Amino acid sequence: MKTTMSRRSFLGGAAAMSLAAGAGEAIAVESRGTFNLPNRGEFVIRSAYVMTMDPTLRDIPRGDVHVKNGAIVAVGAGLKAGGAEAIDGRDMIVLPGFVDTHWHMWNTLLRSMAGDKRELGYFPTVATLGKLFTPGDMYQGTRLAAVEAIYSGFTFVHDWCHNVRRPDFAAANLKALRESGLRGRFSYGTPQAHPPTETIDLADLERLRRDWKSSGEDLLDLGLAWRGMGAAPAVIPPEVYRKEFDAARAAGLPISVHVANLRSRAGAVDALAKANLLGKDVQLIHAIWITPEEIQAIAAAGSCVSLSPYTELRIGFGFPQTGELLAAGVTLGLSVDTTVLSGNADMFAIMKAIQNVENSRTENEFKLPARRVLELATIEGARSMGVDDRVGSLKPGKRADLIMVSTRDVNMGVFTDPAHMLVEAAQPSNVDTVVVDGRILKRRGKLMAYDTRQVVGQASAALAGVRKRGNWW
Ligand SMILES: [Zn+2]
Repeated sequence: MKTTMSRRSFLGGAAAMSLAAGAGEAIAVESRGTFNLPNRGEFVIRSAYVMTMDPTLRDIPRGDVHVKNGAIVAVGAGLKAGGAEAIDGRDMIVLPGFVDTHWHMWNTLLRSMAGDKRELGYFPTVATLGKLFTPGDMYQGTRLAAVEAIYSGFTFVHDWCHNVRRPDFAAANLKALRESGLRGRFSYGTPQAHPPTETIDLADLERLRRDWKSSGEDLLDLGLAWRGMGAAPAVIPPEVYRKEFDAARAAGLPISVHVANLRSRAGAVDALAKANLLGKDVQLIHAIWITPEEIQAIAAAGSCVSLSPYTELRIGFGFPQTGELLAAGVTLGLSVDTTVLSGNADMFAIMKAIQNVENSRTENEFKLPARRVLELATIEGARSMGVDDRVGSLKPGKRADLIMVSTRDVNMGVFTDPAHMLVEAAQPSNVDTVVVDGRILKRRGKLMAYDTRQVVGQASAALAGVRKRGNWW
């Protein structure tokens, strides 16, 4: 049933008081859109193959993980865990949840809609339809992406929201993230088809930042999804890109930018370096067309890089320089980017692709080992997002973001090398259990807090509305 409500009631609670400042417009949302997240309890996973991804604890072949109130209390064999609920971990691999490092979650509403002709390609499709989105559509797209993320074993997402057309667009997006129970970063970005001569709404970004903590955000952080310097035919003037960059840096917000994704954009990293626009607070996305000197500049500045092999392959950007970046000591994360191109959000496939592309490009079977790829998907991804002190590995004191992957399924039989199995054999349907901050969000292969038929049904209705408004069939 469709209802129309004000943004204040739509958001609810203290968050609404801050996010709805300046509200007025009403937006249509589904009244049944809110899910109840399970409580953080106390449980112990018993007798699993535990891959801690911690250099000291390493793998524990018959290991236990004790979780209480959202934190990992203990990891080891034969743990005493008092009254904790026991979860049978036999025939399961337990590892940290996957960390996505860049994902335009809102446009999951346009899944697999990049067409086969230039005018129907990814960029024109997303720009044309993105302009027609309402806050309700942003909510539906992001919620669909978030539920897919949890189903597929992600526990952290970097939501790169490049369609904040008004303050209520950011609010709707954040509502979907908050309801999902995922950990992540929301990066505030430019609306689709925004004039290159105009900045984003910097006052709104500052208001969001100022009210962030008091709005009750505990699992989500805020960042800037920066356009950077642009490229022909949409070159961003320095007075615009500098103003956006300086505002974020002065506010202490992490900055993320797409760069050198096309051969024609080679030299873009050098331009950022010369303009003093790299740094530990700057994440570079794709960075495919870069020279050895530019890789050294990235490493020297301490910037991290996000690679999304499936979208890079699908759209024809080129091959990521994974080995060169790692050899230079650059922190790498893996990413979904957009399901408009990749179709789905599958970190197992992403890991397999990054390994296979690197090994093939270098004609070397042994170039990128499975365990190194698993690090990129977990602890190194967490490092690149600045959350490795909290998540990314399984050790006492960290927050409990973990997954259990079943080895009972036919594509996972027989049990051999677990790192190789995860990178080469596993798929999202093998994810038995997903825990974020101690909340069990997927168990025995079923989502606990979401009705997937409702999520997909409401998203389908939202897409039908977007297509109708755009006369796009
Ligand atoms: Zn992207």
